[in-house]
Amino acid sequence: MTTASSSIMTTTEKLGAHNYHPLPIVIERGEGVWVYDPEGTKYMDMLSAYSALNQGHRHPKIIQALVDQAQKVTLTSRAFHNDQLAPWYEKVTQMTGKNMVLPMNTGAEAVESAIKVARRWAYDVKGVEAGKAEIIGCIGNFHGRTMGALSLSSEEEYKRGFGPMLEGFKVVPYGDAVALEQAITPNTAAFIVEPIQGEAGIIMPPKGYLKAVEAICRKHQVLFICDEIQTGLARTGKLFAYEWEDVMPDMLILGKALGGGVMPISAVVANKDILGVLNPGSHGSTFGGNPLACAVSTASLEVIEEENLVQRSLELGQYFKEQLETINHVAIKEIRGTGLFIGIELHTDARPYCEALMKKGLLCKETHATVIRFAPPLVISKEELDWALEQIKTLFN
Ligand code: PLP
Repeated sequence: MTTASSSIMTTTEKLGAHNYHPLPIVIERGEGVWVYDPEGTKYMDMLSAYSALNQGHRHPKIIQALVDQAQKVTLTSRAFHNDQLAPWYEKVTQMTGKNMVLPMNTGAEAVESAIKVARRWAYDVKGVEAGKAEIIGCIGNFHGRTMGALSLSSEEEYKRGFGPMLEGFKVVPYGDAVALEQAITPNTAAFIVEPIQGEAGIIMPPKGYLKAVEAICRKHQVLFICDEIQTGLARTGKLFAYEWEDVMPDMLILGKALGGGVMPISAVVANKDILGVLNPGSHGSTFGGNPLACAVSTASLEVIEEENLVQRSLELGQYFKEQLETINHVAIKEIRGTGLFIGIELHTDARPYCEALMKKGLLCKETHATVIRFAPPLVISKEELDWALEQIKTLFN
């Protein structure tokens, strides 16, 4: 029987580039933690668009900000000022403790921007010889799909057929501060790291890693950059995951939940001594800092504070992990994560498990083949989480 869902999937497959392998479900509507297909079947979203929906689907306050702003002005370009950018800057600087913000749109764009800023800082401030700046990343990193992010990647499959890569990048093992120090040269501009590696399968570094990294970066005058695009904004039970180690990166990269799952908006956040290397004409984006995205983002950040999403993520995440740990099954290798950012690593392919969970009404997605990632909207209630646990437990029974 041809359903609305099946015909939509057929057309999508026929006309769209095949750069994704989605689960066979069409989402037509969403509210909070729940989404619905065109046939009216209800599913719980335990992926949150890779943590872009921390505030839940269509949060009323965020949608109100969208509607209100859409009725005033949506895009000005940066050729002119707009009245939403300044209050958004104030909110972002207040929440991060930094004093300068560069607005962009997507995560990968913000990563590219951070790379440009780090390189220019190396030449203008650190005094690295022209054309020689180096950036160090980690094995297993994921910083996006653009050429700079790809050049930093250690995944051959992500890079295959897209060469030549950019010069001036190298990677060291994640979690190994000694390897980082050994890789640093006088030309090193920056070290970029995810406080927890998301796409790699929720990989947690050893305790003390970020603290050691911070000290090494300070010692060698290397910028310490945290990519918090996936881990930031309450996902891990802290506002930013770097807080788990009481460190302060020089540069923060934000995206995803910064737009509340409503508008794409990203940012590079640092102090003036770093971001101040940009001058008019050196960088830009037609949509970066647009009033619609800024209004939505300010509301999205307010929701995180007003609804105590950090605390919710911490407490519910602890409960969720403890409950998952009671499952005794031969296929489970390890359960790891913090806050509502939990991965179950299996000894086998995770995809069939995600498909089986979908049939039970729970949407999640495998990452790195053997890991089931659970990252529900942080507005999830304990009752909803219990329902999810029931589905997961019956799957493993
Ligand atoms: N950096 C990290 C840590 C990410 O998890 C992602 C996306 O998953 C990106 C960068 C890229 O963001 P975007 O897909 O918005 O370009």
